[in-house]
Amino acid sequence: MIYLDNSATTQIDEHVLEAMLSWLREDFGNASSTHKYGRKARVAVESAREEIASLINAHPAEVIFTSGGTESNNTVLKSCVFESALVDSIVTSATEHHAILYPTEEIQRTGVRTTILGVNQQGHISVDELEQYDSKRTLVSIMHANNETGIVHRLREIRNTVPDAYLHTDAVQSFGKIPFDVAELGVDFATFSAHKIHGPKGVGALFIKKGIDFKAHQQGGGQERNRRAGTEAVALIVGFQTAARIAHASMQHVAEHTRALTTSMRQQLINSIPNIRINTPEVESLPNILNVSFADADQIDGDAILQIMDMKGIACSNGSACVSGTMQPSHVLSAMGRADAEAKAAVRFSLSKYTTLAEVTTAVTTLAEIIDQMR
Ligand code: PLP
Repeated sequence: MIYLDNSATTQIDEHVLEAMLSWLREDFGNASSTHKYGRKARVAVESAREEIASLINAHPAEVIFTSGGTESNNTVLKSCVFESALVDSIVTSATEHHAILYPTEEIQRTGVRTTILGVNQQGHISVDELEQYDSKRTLVSIMHANNETGIVHRLREIRNTVPDAYLHTDAVQSFGKIPFDVAELGVDFATFSAHKIHGPKGVGALFIKKGIDFKAHQQGGGQERNRRAGTEAVALIVGFQTAARIAHASMQHVAEHTRALTTSMRQQLINSIPNIRINTPEVESLPNILNVSFADADQIDGDAILQIMDMKGIACSNGSACVSGTMQPSHVLSAMGRADAEAKAAVRFSLSKYTTLAEVTTAVTTLAEIIDQMR
């Protein structure tokens, strides 16, 4: 089986698994306990916090551990509006992950003003349009890199356009793949997840800039300096730390490898499939994602492409959600102006450090055969 769905999740790195095991076996203490077991777990959690903070150029006190990207996104949005009462308006974009869009909709139902910015055909928001929302009482949330197309948003430009607003970014897809520096980008909040970088599922982090009076959204115990209640998942946190360390140490090398593969794949797809449309820009994009659709999509059975790819041994995906047995068009491609049929029949290939050129070539040949037969 060829696995080209690394934006959904990644294979765990053996070193990560190895680093986690003792924290599931003998070192099982609760990091809040004051005895020896607890103290050992506490040291592990704080060492992970320090290392992850240093990788994003933050202070350890600015990082809290969560159960992943979904929780970090929900926490930021809801705490900023409700528990912390920092803002009374949210501005985000139409191509965000549902872990931003759905909580935003829920917040809107409580009467809070929310604005969803559109994007152009490439997937960029209009930064000029954002200018009117600059206010101390507004939270702007724009993802760093899009999970479907891989486009990288111009966060520094966005920060400069709304200097007074709180700025959050969902960096789940970019973290560990391209440089991410909280100071350079000027963000107040950032969301991270471990399982997109060969770490375990169910753990992530939230960066909260020093000086922000941030109150817990999830309440209970006083963990994470009263910012996120719940016993710390020590093994997962250590796994996250190890995955983040490996991803950062090998970032340049892996980025060059995956970029070379997506560049080759782009050319192979163009050469072998007429009327193919590449939805991932060549510049300002993650090195490992390539999203394609078909200009004559009404001739193509979008639901079937991925099933046949799967039957032929290739795991890939698209951004469409399956609702009651039928595929819905990808909200990302729809926002980029693609017609419904095209936004339903897209294919997203997402590569990793483990992907080879032979796998990429097989995937292209297989997709070309499928599309040819459908036409
Ligand atoms: N944000 C983005 C951009 C994602 O791609 C994902 C996962 O697909 C998430 C958030 C959710 O992260 P998690 O799976 O850690 O909850």
